[in-house]
Amino acid sequence: MDSFKQAREKVARTIRILYRIGYVLDYEGNVSTRTRTANRYSITPSQVPRYKIKASDILIVNEVGEVVQGKRNPSVETRMHLLIYSKRPDAGAVIHFHSLHATALASLHETIPPFLEGMIPYLGENVPTIEYAMAGTEELASNVANSLTQRNAVLLANHGAVVCGKDLQDAFHKALLLEKASTIYLLAKAVGSPRNLPEWVIEAERELFRTMML
Ligand SMILES: [Zn+2]
Repeated sequence: MDSFKQAREKVARTIRILYRIGYVLDYEGNVSTRTRTANRYSITPSQVPRYKIKASDILIVNEVGEVVQGKRNPSVETRMHLLIYSKRPDAGAVIHFHSLHATALASLHETIPPFLEGMIPYLGENVPTIEYAMAGTEELASNVANSLTQRNAVLLANHGAVVCGKDLQDAFHKALLLEKASTIYLLAKAVGSPRNLPEWVIEAERELFRTMML
C-alpha cells in the first residue's frame, strides 16, 4: 500500500485518465485508495474539474470520513467508499464512474450475466444493477457496499458503475473490463440473445473468483 504522497499522486492521475477516456465528465466520478496508514484513505475532492485535479487536491480522510489532510471538500460519495472498505478488507481501491455502455445497461436495470470469457474471475459471476438510490445518500452507499461483498463490480440504476480492486491498477483494469463487457453485451443484445458460458466453465470460474476474490 502507498504512503499519503504516493496515494495522492496515483488517485489524481487516475481521475484525470478517467476524464480523458470519457468515463467521467468535469465534476463526475470519484476514486479512492486505502493507504499504508491504518484507517486512512485518499479520495478525490468534489467541485474540482477532473481534468485539472492534482495530487495536492486529493484528501486524506479517516474511517468516518473526517478530513485529516487537504483543503478541498471530499467526494460526496466518501461514505460509499468507506463502507466498501469496511465490508471488503481485501479492497485497496474503489472507482466510481459513468462510462457510456455500463450506464446504458444501468438505465435498463439489466444484469450482465456470465457470458464473456475472462469476466468471472475479475468481476464476479454477474454484474447486477442495484436498486435506484440518490447520489450521495446512505442508501446508495449501503446498496453498493452490500452488492460488492459478492463481486467486484456493480451497476447503479440510472447512474453509472462502481468497481473495487486490490490496488488502483487492478481497479482500473476492472473498470475497463466492465465497460468492455457492457459494450459487447449491448451489441449482442441488439441483434439477438447473448448466450451464457457453459455451466461447467461458470462453476470452475466461480471457484477461481472465490479464491482470488479481488
Ligand atoms: Zn456518479
